[in-house]
Amino acid sequence: MIAHLINTDIGNRGITNLYLEYRSQNFNFLKNAADILLKNYERTLIVTGFPIPPTMVAETDGPPGTVAIYRAVESLGGQAEVLTYSEVEKALRPFGIQTTKEPQIGNYSLVIAVETPGKTSNGKYYSMNGLEITRETFDWTVEEARELGIPTIGIGDGGNEAGMGKIHELVKKYIPHGERIGSTVETDELVLSAVSNWGAYGLIGEAALRKEELRDVLQGIDERGILKSLAMNGAIDGVTKNMDLSVDGIPEEVHQTIVQLIMNILKKIDNP
Ligand code: CA
Repeated sequence: MIAHLINTDIGNRGITNLYLEYRSQNFNFLKNAADILLKNYERTLIVTGFPIPPTMVAETDGPPGTVAIYRAVESLGGQAEVLTYSEVEKALRPFGIQTTKEPQIGNYSLVIAVETPGKTSNGKYYSMNGLEITRETFDWTVEEARELGIPTIGIGDGGNEAGMGKIHELVKKYIPHGERIGSTVETDELVLSAVSNWGAYGLIGEAALRKEELRDVLQGIDERGILKSLAMNGAIDGVTKNMDLSVDGIPEEVHQTIVQLIMNILKKIDNP
């Protein structure tokens, strides 16, 4: 149910057909990703940030989901660190998020990429509109982790993120400019979602179905406060390109509603 919910295409960005075929091929993707998280959370590197051309300023999708995963790792008793762009780093500082600039991948037990560019077949990086991304990228962390045998999870919503290499053929089939923008960078499991923050919330919700320590994580996330801090530090909505309290062109209230719905699914488990 949570996998369906996080793929509700409220922004009408065309993810539905991609989701339906992916789900038919990999029905348990969210459950598998939650399993990877629950087995390997001890030292987690979370990589986030998606620069939007032409300014190359990071967008608001990714960081709120990253905070949620960070809190989940803490609640489980693990340690998390975040690798991201400077404006996001500044925005997350008031929330007590530990960041790193030069992570030694071998020191981590898990790498999670939340909405961050993944390189394409020509080695370059592109936005959903097919514009080239010309800023430092972080998908090397996922590639290095895989070489070292460290588990990886990717979370994305557009086809151009690290992790989407797992469904490269489907991205080419269903996503506009998929051939050009589709990432070839794979992760062990891929959480597909209509908004990447929802993918992160859904991952935690799914894990919370099995771990009581995680039941209260989502209600503690101040998404409005995180979005305000992001806007104050210059991050923009990736769709409207404005410093709004919105994500992917979808107003903040809708994101809160998605979190509420996930929490309602969890309450049902406690009070069947
Ligand atoms: Ca997005």
